[in-house]
Amino acid sequence: MKHKEIILNCTRVNHQYMRLPAGKVAGLEAMTDLYRRIASQSLDCAQAWVQDSPCPDHEPATDAFWWGVVAWADAFGLSMGVDQTEWGGLFVGPHHEFAKYLRPGKPPRPLEPVTETPANVILTLDATWTELVIKLTAEWGFLHHLKDSGAILEAQMLQGELRTPGSPAYKAFLESDLNFFRHLFKHFPFSEQTRKYITAWLKRAEEGL
Ligand SMILES: [Zn+2]
Repeated sequence: MKHKEIILNCTRVNHQYMRLPAGKVAGLEAMTDLYRRIASQSLDCAQAWVQDSPCPDHEPATDAFWWGVVAWADAFGLSMGVDQTEWGGLFVGPHHEFAKYLRPGKPPRPLEPVTETPANVILTLDATWTELVIKLTAEWGFLHHLKDSGAILEAQMLQGELRTPGSPAYKAFLESDLNFFRHLFKHFPFSEQTRKYITAWLKRAEEGL
């Protein structure tokens, strides 16, 4: 039961942050709208999950978002170099359970881990995660999301910018991701050792080391 409440908290944090530095990156208005919808549907669905109720109606992009997070979470843990057993059980597992509740099925292949500086790990995985979410959204909801073609185009453009260190999007997303992760990881019952490791790793990302 506890992991359901943790995910509910994550959807709350996500709802607040939306992982989008709104206002700092121009030209992402349609994408921001779509993310807002995803974030609020995620919150509703997580609330129902905690109460063991059937999953409320939500859009295919919401499924794509969370299945994308599962693929991302795996690669993120490997790229950071944290204890894989702990990370898998405490972080990837609950996300996987939630994704299955939203849309039963097999997980997509995990993203490729990145061996680079922490900042580049974060941004490269943001880009590959975005790419996967676009792909799954098209696969699962092509007709439904035709109306979001503007958002998809913006996401595609963003993906390129996130791979360009020093671009305005790179800097804005790094700052907003670091804020987001610090908030997010607090909700997971990691061991003291792992917590310290993650904190130090995020600090290196912040310092651009
Ligand atoms: Zn739902």
